[in-house]
Amino acid sequence: MSINIDKAKKIFERMQEQSGLETLISNLRPDDSPLPSGMPKDYSAEATRERLEHLAEQRPNTLKYLIPDESHPDLERLEGSIENFIGFTQVPTGVVGPLKVNGSVAKGHYYVPLATTEGALVASYHRGAKAASRAGGVASACLTEGVRRSPLFGFNTIEDAIRFLVWTTDQKATFFEIAQSKTRHGKLTDIHLNMEGNHVILTFEYLTGDASGQNMVTICTDAVCQYIAAHCPIPMKYWFVEGNYSGDKKASALSFTTVRGKKVTAECILPADILANVLKTSARTMEEYWRASTVSVIQSGSIGAQGHFANGLTALFMATGQDVACVSEAAVGVTRMECVNNDELYVSVTLPNLIVGTVGGGTKFTTQQECLQLMDCAGAGKARHFAEICGALLLCGEISIAAALSEGHFTKAHQQLGR
Ligand code: NAP
Repeated sequence: MSINIDKAKKIFERMQEQSGLETLISNLRPDDSPLPSGMPKDYSAEATRERLEHLAEQRPNTLKYLIPDESHPDLERLEGSIENFIGFTQVPTGVVGPLKVNGSVAKGHYYVPLATTEGALVASYHRGAKAASRAGGVASACLTEGVRRSPLFGFNTIEDAIRFLVWTTDQKATFFEIAQSKTRHGKLTDIHLNMEGNHVILTFEYLTGDASGQNMVTICTDAVCQYIAAHCPIPMKYWFVEGNYSGDKKASALSFTTVRGKKVTAECILPADILANVLKTSARTMEEYWRASTVSVIQSGSIGAQGHFANGLTALFMATGQDVACVSEAAVGVTRMECVNNDELYVSVTLPNLIVGTVGGGTKFTTQQECLQLMDCAGAGKARHFAEICGALLLCGEISIAAALSEGHFTKAHQQLGR
């Protein structure tokens, strides 16, 4: 967060040249000029029209393509997913495949949709999929599952916090009963206790069926917290349904070392001819690059060590109605590449925080449903399939980027496809 003193001087000098320090500082002061009137908040077509008219007055000739067609089927599905709706942002979508996946549940060849505006991204994952599929496919296994909510309870003293912990340990059955009463598909599996001074964090861990589950675990845990607030005999200063411990929407060491969502591991072995013909490299060069880049990424302070999980995940999340902000946690993991049998390359990826769902959230929208259906991953009973395909896809991205960087093709590919 700090900045070198000479650099700071130059920045301030440039600011003064542009507008003068006094103007700059006065721009930062609170502005009490009147605001335009507000907009209606409801989901009706009339309210949407009013919002668009309001915006047209404020910023004439800006909105043309965002405005929805009035017969768009998703207009009926907005509630619970968006407020102050004004239209649909369109993102170009490409496809990777066929990608052969030898999963514990996802078995077959898949066409994987990626929504992105980053040129070269789809081509890169596609190349990785071609290499892995020709080599027999990617083995992918969804190992463990769990989604946490971590409410925090504040007390006056450590003594009260300890009394609360003792009371809590007698309430286990009641907590399970309350949580279970709020969901049909979710299941509370465990409760962990953590004390820091006069604060107690209770971590509730759930299985969330085929939903990614963030809403589900919030609703169930909130019901338990309401019970605690009403019945706990120890005076409590405050409580929050989430104490910012669960790892929701942030990379955390806790999630990396346990699981948040689904933990998936995937591998494939690439023979020399595929490395040479499809990826234009060799196993030794790839291993060298992987070793050097892993030591470098550790020095940068990264949690986990991987190349670009976020690229494939963001594009897949966008296409399939996942919560894209969860890439911040899901794109944490480990990639490994080793030269084996003289000239073959063993590659594995492991993702302990793959928080994905095939029901709920944004999966209900039409194009998102279509993209899930393209992979036979729409609806109930499909979340583990989808997670295994995610793992296989990310492995393809890792081999393609490592091949490009190890052989010096990375810049050229982006110049050709990404500009
Ligand atoms: P959700 O759409 O709120 O809940 C899933 C719904 O699907 C539940 O009503 C569940 O019913 C039902 N369901 C039907 N069949 C199911 C099946 N086979 N497996 C699982 N559930 C099934 O979605 P969510 O996954 O809980 O939450 C995801 C959303 O939460 C995302 O849109 C995300 O952006 C948002 N989010 C919320 C928070 C938060 O703290 N509230 C934080 C981050 C993200 P039952 O529960 O009765 O089983």
